Amino acid sequence: MGRAFAYVILGGGVAAGYAALEFSRRGVAAGELCIISDESVAPYERPALSKGYLLPEAPARLPFFHTCVGTNDERLTPKWYKEHGIELVLGTKVTSADVRRKTLITATGETISYKILIIATGARALKLEEFGVKGSDAENVCYLRNLDDANRLVNVMQSCAGGNAVVIGGGYIGMECTAALVTNRIKVTMVFPEKHCMFRLFTPKIAEFYENYYKSKGVNFIKGTVLSSFENDSTGKVMAVILRDGTRLPTDMVVVGIGIRANTALFEGQLTLEKGGIKVNGRMQTSNSSVYAVGDVAAFPVKLFDNDIRRLEHVDSARKTARHTVAAIMAPAKTTNLDYLPFFYSRVFSLSWQFYGDNVGEVVHFGDFSSGKFGSYWVDKGRVVGAFLEGGGREDYETITKAVRNKAVVKDLGELGRKGLDFAFLE
Ligand code: FAD
Repeated sequence: MGRAFAYVILGGGVAAGYAALEFSRRGVAAGELCIISDESVAPYERPALSKGYLLPEAPARLPFFHTCVGTNDERLTPKWYKEHGIELVLGTKVTSADVRRKTLITATGETISYKILIIATGARALKLEEFGVKGSDAENVCYLRNLDDANRLVNVMQSCAGGNAVVIGGGYIGMECTAALVTNRIKVTMVFPEKHCMFRLFTPKIAEFYENYYKSKGVNFIKGTVLSSFENDSTGKVMAVILRDGTRLPTDMVVVGIGIRANTALFEGQLTLEKGGIKVNGRMQTSNSSVYAVGDVAAFPVKLFDNDIRRLEHVDSARKTARHTVAAIMAPAKTTNLDYLPFFYSRVFSLSWQFYGDNVGEVVHFGDFSSGKFGSYWVDKGRVVGAFLEGGGREDYETITKAVRNKAVVKDLGELGRKGLDFAFLE
């Protein structure tokens, strides 16, 4: 048995939703487009899972955060797909792909063929087992990548009210989950091997601000070590974590956020891979001209960084690469190479930051760390290549975006620090 479509999107996450909207705006005909997802719900705004979804009061629930509400666009509910003649094949894992034959085979044995394929398989959470630690399948150990994970986290959190949690990992999943746990009145100890939180992005000074803020909320930090094993009770539940330095932390639950890996497995040996993702050109086309890749799984040339190939794990990039791909497919003559400015944000407690560009070169901090409105520029070869801002307003963020996009020339680092946001405003 089998079905055939002009366009197939493999994966039903953020990028798939934004691609579907773009297809419909560009006049895809009913029956031409199909989305296959192993999740049981229509595409949704994944960032909600570590924010609104975990709130103790009036938490966000579907259908309210289906794509594309993240950009104040239409909300694509299952009804929307139906009305637009877009086939949603949910709860269905694709188990093999043959790009030469242009076919996908699902776990139920169905063959789905395509003329054009968009790979939007995203990424999966790395498991502790991949680092040699056993037992992360215990019922009170949580990961967070999809809705099932989020439901499980909510249930475990509710059963631990007033208790303790250990959060493994100091990246944004660890930081956002810690904030959610604290808001749910759970006392958190964060454990990570680096010197400070958000090690890949934050400077030590920025990290110090956030760590102090978290400490003021009762969060305990154990840095420079990793988890080595779990101690379980007779039912298999984790009751303590043991760290490599020997520390024993009794706990009611564990949340693990130790990074992700792009879902490339179906295409290994068939398409060119780079930086852990599927390599594409500026039109998001892979080494096979009928196959495109978008979102977390795609490694694409960033024009602004001299076409350096990057794989970005951020929602804005998923949205924009998806839209660009559909434009390149539906209006090839009018679509030039993607010119994307990397952008990432996070919100925790009442804090909120945005980052644009690249964090390489010299760091220049600015603003008033005690007032909660501060940031930093990254300056490389005399030009601004990245900017971070906590606590800004819309105009501030738009202004630093421009400074990075234009690679504003910096004559004097000291002056840049003194001027701070004004530097960007005067550009
Ligand atoms: P995904 O949204 O992960 O979608 C991939 C889809 O493909 C999933 O539905 C998956 O189940 C499906 N799939 C994979 N393999 C198969 C298969 N073989 N068969 C069928 N289906 C398959 N970014 C930010 O910039 N800011 C944030 O604050 C932020 N918060 C986040 C919070 C959480 C909890 C998470 C998990 C991510 C967050 N992100 C954030 C990152 C952002 O959500 C991702 O960059 C974005 O979801 C990537 O979109 P995507 O479509 O490429 O992948």
